[in-house]
Amino acid sequence: MAGQINAFEMAQKQFDGVAKLLNLDPQIAEILRWPMREYSFRIPIRMDDGTIRVFQGYRVQHNDSRGPNKGGIRFHPNETFDTVRALATWMTWKCAVADIPLGGGKGGIIVDPSSLTTPEKERLCRGWVQNMWKNIGPRQDVPAPDVGTTPQMMGWMMDEYSKLVGEYTPGVFTGKPLGGGGSEGRTEATGYGVIYTVREAMAHLKLDPTKCVAAIEGFGNVAQYAAIGFIEMLGGKVACVSCWDRNDKTSYTYSHKDGIDPRFLLTITDQYGTIDQKKAKDAGYVIEDGEKWIEKECDVLIPAAIEGHVNADTVQKISSRVKIVAEGANGPCTPEADEYFKKNGIFDIPDFLCNAGGVTTSYFESVQNDMNYYWTKKEVLERLDTKMTSAFHAVLDMSQKEGVYMRDAAYMVAIDRVVKAMQLRGWS
Ligand code: GLU
Repeated sequence: MAGQINAFEMAQKQFDGVAKLLNLDPQIAEILRWPMREYSFRIPIRMDDGTIRVFQGYRVQHNDSRGPNKGGIRFHPNETFDTVRALATWMTWKCAVADIPLGGGKGGIIVDPSSLTTPEKERLCRGWVQNMWKNIGPRQDVPAPDVGTTPQMMGWMMDEYSKLVGEYTPGVFTGKPLGGGGSEGRTEATGYGVIYTVREAMAHLKLDPTKCVAAIEGFGNVAQYAAIGFIEMLGGKVACVSCWDRNDKTSYTYSHKDGIDPRFLLTITDQYGTIDQKKAKDAGYVIEDGEKWIEKECDVLIPAAIEGHVNADTVQKISSRVKIVAEGANGPCTPEADEYFKKNGIFDIPDFLCNAGGVTTSYFESVQNDMNYYWTKKEVLERLDTKMTSAFHAVLDMSQKEGVYMRDAAYMVAIDRVVKAMQLRGWS
């Protein structure tokens, strides 16, 4: 959850603020404040020991005026209907700001995936599809991986859907494994996309990337490739990453006096993102409390874990050196954190712009699935860079033209595009 605040209330509050700025017709605002369709269902699964366990599943389709709903499925112990609603809403804005012809959706299951065996996980994935298959599809709603889900899980889900509809349908899920209908570059896409926007922000602020240090929260898919990109594409240094340790059930911050080496850390990280503490210590890493990442001396702060971690209680702790906050996660900064950034002149790259690289490459994946013709990694990443760079500049231009903060500008660009599609389709 987003600190004390409910994530969906936060998404609505952000929207209401911009609806006022845009002088949006209240009837249109009323449509956009709420998801268009919501599904909640129970998934009974036979566990390996023969017992039945029932899981709670969700899918929320926020708005499909610009194209099929699109967005990940999270497997998370703290999942709630409201988090899924918030995340589905943000997906609508994300696809619009990235200017891809898709709407917003999100799904979830309340579960800690590391508590399941591989066969149990597969049955749970198939169970989710058995509940939802009539309401998803390449022209309706296309799910993808998110926190707690993986390309392999998307492979199982796509297989289950294809069996139920009676034909191979790779475009129903994206983020599938390479060789199983996946796209080159999808694994790196979200993290690299974050770095393309950081690069543009640095150029705008006239910062030399090679002199910049980043502090990153998380070491999941987004954080891993954001760290690699920050070092390899920009030539900067990464002070730390943090990660949830599934054995200790707590999180830690990993730093190194010379800057962390994400490619090395990847070799000692398990499939759930837990770093091997002993091997890290042997390699000279300092392991501290999981909250420490936010206090590290740095120029660029990249929260790339989950929602609400930069909030009224934690934002005061960020280094006075921070010039850019790049929101790799969905909803990591609360409205109180926004106020702090505004007051202190910190340049924020809002989540649904900053992390749009994942869904943009998902879009490329579904286009390739439709054509049954696949691009090289170089082609995918070049197209991604072009999309992210133009999305960044559309938002920056709006922010300068209207004299508004970057998050409000991103909302203005996105809402404008969604409302236009709704009007053209005669919805308002
Ligand atoms: N889960 C990712 C997101 O929040 C990707 C969604 C997708 O690829 O559809 O943007």
